[in-house]
Amino acid sequence: MINSNDPAAGVLVGIDLGTTNSEIAAFVDGQIRVLTRGNRTMLPSCVGLSPSGELLIGEPARNQRLLHPDRTLSSVKRKMGSDEILALGDRELTPPEVSALILKELVRWAEERLGESVTRAVITVPAYFSDAQRNATREAGRLAGLEVVRILNEPTAASLAYGEGGDSSQRTVLVYDLGGGTFDVSIVSIEGDVTEVLASHGNNLLGGDDFDRLLQERLVEEFRKQHGVDLTEDNPRAMARLAHAAEEAKKTLSAEPFARIREESLIVVDGKPLHLETEVSRDDYERLIRPLIDSTLESVNRALEGAGKATADIDEVLLVGGSTRTPLVARVMEDHCGREPRQEVHPDLCVALGAGVLASRLAGHEVERVLVDVSPYSFGPSHLGSRGGLPYTYCYTPIIKKNTPLPITRTERFSTAHPGQTAVDVNIYQGDDEDALKNILIGDFTIEGMTPRSDVNEVLCRMSLDLDGILRVTATERATGLSKQVSIQGATRQLTEEEILTSRKRVEELFLRNVSDPEIDEAGEDETPDESPVIEVRPNQNPELETARTVLEQSRTLLPSVHEEDREEMIDLNEKIEEAMSAGDLEVLSRETAALKELLFFVQGR
Ligand code: AMP
Repeated sequence: MINSNDPAAGVLVGIDLGTTNSEIAAFVDGQIRVLTRGNRTMLPSCVGLSPSGELLIGEPARNQRLLHPDRTLSSVKRKMGSDEILALGDRELTPPEVSALILKELVRWAEERLGESVTRAVITVPAYFSDAQRNATREAGRLAGLEVVRILNEPTAASLAYGEGGDSSQRTVLVYDLGGGTFDVSIVSIEGDVTEVLASHGNNLLGGDDFDRLLQERLVEEFRKQHGVDLTEDNPRAMARLAHAAEEAKKTLSAEPFARIREESLIVVDGKPLHLETEVSRDDYERLIRPLIDSTLESVNRALEGAGKATADIDEVLLVGGSTRTPLVARVMEDHCGREPRQEVHPDLCVALGAGVLASRLAGHEVERVLVDVSPYSFGPSHLGSRGGLPYTYCYTPIIKKNTPLPITRTERFSTAHPGQTAVDVNIYQGDDEDALKNILIGDFTIEGMTPRSDVNEVLCRMSLDLDGILRVTATERATGLSKQVSIQGATRQLTEEEILTSRKRVEELFLRNVSDPEIDEAGEDETPDESPVIEVRPNQNPELETARTVLEQSRTLLPSVHEEDREEMIDLNEKIEEAMSAGDLEVLSRETAALKELLFFVQGR
C-alpha cells in the first residue's frame, strides 16, 4: 500500500466524475484549483468514435452526438454498476471502461498543467450509489492507471469545499444538487473530521435539461404562431438549433430579466427562409419551470424526514450543480428552509474542489476550505414601493447579493413612477436592509431625456462588480436603449469610521424626514415589493414640468443652428412654455410643449 502522504508517490488529485461533465482539482500554489486545459475547466463526460475511427473524448465527442448518436456515449455514469455492454461504433465497452477513458483524459490535463505525473485520486460518487456502483467507479480508476485512495460522497465533497467541519462542533448541512440531468439532496452531519450522510433523496431524471426542453417547447409554439409550421414534425436540425437557443436563453435569464432569441432561416418553405425572433421574460420562464422546482421540495422534505431533522435543525444550505444558478432555485429554497442558501463556491466545480480539498489533506497539505473571491456586500438601487401599506420612496432590493462570486453582472427591471416621466434618479446603496436609508449611499446619477409615455416606462438597471472592487451601474430606458453609466471605485473596500459616521448621520436625518407616518413605524413589517419595482423619479416634480424642461433644454441647444423661420417659431414657443410654467397652467404647458416637440422633430430631420 502506498502511503498517500509520500511525495514520491506522485500527485494526488480530486476528481468529480459527473453525468454531464467531469473535472479534476489539485493543490497548486497554496490553493485548491480546478485544473484547466486552455480556458476549459469542464470535460463533457462523452466518448465517441469519429467516422474515420478516431477516439474522441469530451467536447469533440459531444459535438458529434447529434450527428452520430450510434458512435457516441454519454451519461455513462447512469450505467455504472450494471452489466450492460455499450456499443461504440463497432466496439463494445463496459461502463467502467468508458469512464476510464474520461479519467485518463482528465489526468492528461492535470499532468500537462502540473508538469508531474498523477498517480492517485479521490473520486466522488453520489451519496445514493450502491456498493456495485462504487466498485465500478474504483474499477474505472484502476483501469485509468490510478490508485483510488478514497471514494467520496458528492455532498460531503461540497461540504468540504465550503470549509464545513474541521472544529469539534456538530453541524448539519443540507446539500441541494441540481445538475443537467439529475437532482439530489442530502442531509450531512459533520463533526470534526467525521462526516456522515444521514439521508439523501432525489430524482435521476430531473435537471436543467428539462428547463431547456420547456423553453424549447415555448419556442416551437412561438414559431408555429408566427409561421403556421410545426417544427416537431421531421425538422431535427431546426429542433437541435432551438434546443441550443433555449439553453443559451436560460443562462441569460439567470442574470438578465429578458432574453432575445433570434434564429435565422430555421427552415426553408417554398424557397423562403423562415426565421424566429422572439423575447422571453424571466417572469414567463419562471412560471414555466416553477412546477419542476417545486417538485424538488418533495425530495427535500423526504431527505429531512429520513434524517429525522426539521428545517430549523439545518445549519447551512449549500447549492451545488450548474442549474442552481437559476435565481428561482435560491428563492424557493430560502422560502422553504427559512435561511439564505450559500452558493459562493462555483456550483459546477464545487464537488471537484471538495474532492481536491480531501486529496490535498491526504497528501499532507493544510487546507481549510476553497478560497473564492466574493462580494463582501450587497448592492442595489432604492425604488418606490410600499411600507405599512403606504408608498415609500426608499425601498431597497439588492441586485448583487453579498457573497456572490466575482466578477458578476446582474440586471433587474424597474418601472418609472408616473406617465410622462422623462428623468430617473438612480441612487445606489450598499447594504442588506429593505429600507435603503438604513444602508449606505455610495453613488447616484440621473438619466434624462427619456421618452415621455402615456403609461409607465421600463428602466433596466445593470450592475457589474469586478475583482478590483469597481462597481459599474448602467440605467437603460428599455424602449429606446438610452442609457447612462457610472463607475464607483473601491465599492468593496471597507468604509472608514468617519465615513460610516457621516453616512449614518445623513441617513438618520433623512430617515426622520421620511418615516413620519406612525403607522409605518408601528407596522414595522414591509410589504413585499412588486415584481417590477418602481424606480424613484424626482418624486416632488410634476411630469409635465419635467417634460417641458427637457424639451426646452433641447430647443435651446438647437436654436443657434436652425433656419431663421424655425428659430422665430421656437423662440415664440419657448416663451409661451416659460410663461405657462410660472403661471402653473398645466393645460397650456402640455399643449405648447407638444407643439415645440413636434417642431424639434421636424427641425432635426431637415
Ligand atoms: P452540471 O451537471 O452541474 O454541470 O450542470 C449542468 C447544467 O447547468 C446544464 O443544464 C446547464 O445548462 C446548467 N447551467 C449552466 N450555467 C447555467 C446558468 N447560468 N443558469 C442556469 N443554468 C445553467
